[in-house]
Amino acid sequence: MKLVTFDNLVSGRTGCLGVLEEAGDVVDLTADPALPTEMRALVAGWGAYAAPVAAARGSAPRVTRSAVRLRAPIRPANNIMCVGKNYVAHAREFAGSGFDASQREAVPQAPVIFTKALSSLADPGAEVEVSADPTGTSDYEGELAVVIGRGGRGLRAQDAWEHVFGYTVVNDVTVREVQRRHVQFFLGKSAATYCPMGPAIVTRDEVPDVTALRVRTTVNGELRQDAPVADLIFDVPTLVETISATVRLEPGDVIATGTPAGVGIGFDPPRYLRPGDTVEVEIPGIGTLTNTCV
Ligand code: MG
Repeated sequence: MKLVTFDNLVSGRTGCLGVLEEAGDVVDLTADPALPTEMRALVAGWGAYAAPVAAARGSAPRVTRSAVRLRAPIRPANNIMCVGKNYVAHAREFAGSGFDASQREAVPQAPVIFTKALSSLADPGAEVEVSADPTGTSDYEGELAVVIGRGGRGLRAQDAWEHVFGYTVVNDVTVREVQRRHVQFFLGKSAATYCPMGPAIVTRDEVPDVTALRVRTTVNGELRQDAPVADLIFDVPTLVETISATVRLEPGDVIATGTPAGVGIGFDPPRYLRPGDTVEVEIPGIGTLTNTCV
C-alpha cells in the first residue's frame, strides 16, 4: 500500500491522509472519522488501522490526481536520521573530494550517523531554495529511507524488520562548504527545503527484498546516481540497532540510509545544484521524488 499526505485542491482541505492507487488517484481516508488525521498517528496505530484502511480502498471517495497536491508523507517525532558514507563508491568519491572534514578512513568501520532538522522537510514537487546558499555548493543525495513502525530503544538487528513500517524516498540535499567548515554534518544538511521526502510511504509488505531496489538520481534528465540498495555497507537492521542503541526511535521516525556514488562533489570540477535544475530521485517500486531548484 502507498500511503500519502495530500492537499485536496477541490475541497481546499490540507494535510489529508490517503492511499495512492496505481491509476494515480487517491483514496481519501478523511472520509472515515475513525481514522487518525495525521500520518504519524496512522503509523503508530497501524495494527488497528490496517483493516479499515484496506476497506476504505473499496468504499471511500477518491480524489483524482489533478486535484491532489502531495505533501511530505510524514513529519517524524525525531529529526530525520541519516547515514553518511554508506556506499563504498560514494565513501571513496567523498574522501577524494577533500570535503570530508572528519578526516577519518574513507570507508567507515561503524555507521556514520547524523540528523537533518525537521524544518528542512520539503514536499514532493516543492522548490529547493539553493539560491539561499551563499556558498553555491548545494548538492543532491538520492536515498532510500526507512520509516519506523513500532519504536523503541535497544532494538536488536535480528528483530529490526518487525520495527520497519515501510519505505520512502529522500533527497538529502547538502551545502558542501558548510558541511566541510563546521566538521559536524548537521548545519550543512538542515537548511529549509533541503529535505524533500516522498511521494509516498510504501508499506513493508510490498517490498519482499529491500536489497533488490535501486536508487537512481537524475539532474535535468542526466543520470548521476544508479546503484543497488544491496551495495549498502551497513544494512537496514544494523542501522536500526545502531541508532536505537542511543536514541529512542518513535513510530514514524525516518532513517535515510545513505547515498550512492555520483553526487555533484564527486565530479571534477564539482557539479553543484543551480536555480532551474530539476532533481529526480527514483526508486522503482517505492516512487519518484522530483524537485526543482530556485
Ligand atoms: Mg546523505
